[in-house]
Amino acid sequence: MGKEMNPSKHNKFLIGNYAPPSIEVTRGKGSFIWDSTGKKYLDFASGIAVTNVGHSHPTWVESVQKQAAELVHCSNLFSIPQQVSLAEQIVSKIGPGKVLFCNSGAEANEALIKLSRLFGNQSEKQRTNILVATNGFHGRTMGALSATESKKYRQGFEPLLPGFTFCRYNDLAHFESSINDKTAAILIESIQGEGGLEVATDSFLIGIEKLCTKHNLLFLIDEVQAGIARTGNFLGYQESGVQPHAIAMAKGLGGGFPIGAIWVNDSYSPLFTPGSHGTTYGGSPLACTAALAVLKIIEEEGLVEKANNSGKKLREGLECLTKRFPSIISHVKGRGLMLGLGLLVDPSPLVANLREKGLIAVGAANNTLRLLPPLTVSNEEIEDALDMIEAGLNAIASN
Ligand SMILES: *Cc1c(COP(=O)(O)O)cnc(C)c1O
Repeated sequence: MGKEMNPSKHNKFLIGNYAPPSIEVTRGKGSFIWDSTGKKYLDFASGIAVTNVGHSHPTWVESVQKQAAELVHCSNLFSIPQQVSLAEQIVSKIGPGKVLFCNSGAEANEALIKLSRLFGNQSEKQRTNILVATNGFHGRTMGALSATESKKYRQGFEPLLPGFTFCRYNDLAHFESSINDKTAAILIESIQGEGGLEVATDSFLIGIEKLCTKHNLLFLIDEVQAGIARTGNFLGYQESGVQPHAIAMAKGLGGGFPIGAIWVNDSYSPLFTPGSHGTTYGGSPLACTAALAVLKIIEEEGLVEKANNSGKKLREGLECLTKRFPSIISHVKGRGLMLGLGLLVDPSPLVANLREKGLIAVGAANNTLRLLPPLTVSNEEIEDALDMIEAGLNAIASN
């Protein structure tokens, strides 16, 4: 406490792949984090949609501490009972199918890309192309990056994996006209996180599902950011009633402990055979215990419903601000507690101003202020956040 961070030391020993940070975080509890000077912040970023049940939730802490003392890791040479329980629960929330565990969102998407290869290489034509969306984000590994359109992530890393075709998000006709005899799959987010909180319309998702049926394509959904109760459903796509063939999850699943997963339906899960794919860490006893605790808290505290209700309250407040600051805000985007304030200005000065006031939010896509509070957030905390956003907007407006 009371100790300032040492930026020169940070920059001396850490590779500069992130923007130089200005805050050193040392503690979290519920909706709050504290920096090393003792300053308290309302955390409306949740470690980028990760700490969905808040920081250091007592149920989570107790489970993880107990498991850490019992068994942390043993590898997938063995059956891990926590993996089996977690897979069973995930299946019960999605539908008949099976689960494969990994360690991150990028890895989950890699597994989906590999699934599409196993699928497409079965056919005579060796279908190896995947349709993906403009403005999408699927991670930083070479496969997931190849599925990500934005230059800012791709630049300098070419050559990337060939075979990804970018189609305009929510433009069904563009997806349809891009299908050819090499197309194996369509991969999209139900709500674009990094891309600026654009929500897939029901008619778009239903149309994609129909295209996949008609052309025998895999329907793949990336729920890494929108998933795990954040949008008022367990997964974002569930709002529209479609049923994808395979789904990537990560971020909120472990409540802060790294874990990723894919769910694959019963028709396609047998494509993975013994030895075809794997990971040393994936689905460790400790990671699965952390995720089981997250699912238990979601259930016990009704967080799916709560994300919906709290999301409405936060949204209403943001809509009011939109009317009051028409020269700064264009519109409110997103769903549940995955909300974005579409801005007519660069979000960075507002993000910095809010930090000063004690609110952590994060930018998205150069024109959006992204708000991802923990799903356990209270009404009072939402009101405090709205007050700080209003003050931040006033400061921006008077500049
Ligand atoms: C964050 C994110 C990823 C990448 O997850 P990592 O755990 O950072 O690898 C993939 N897809 C979406 C939609 C994401 O938001």
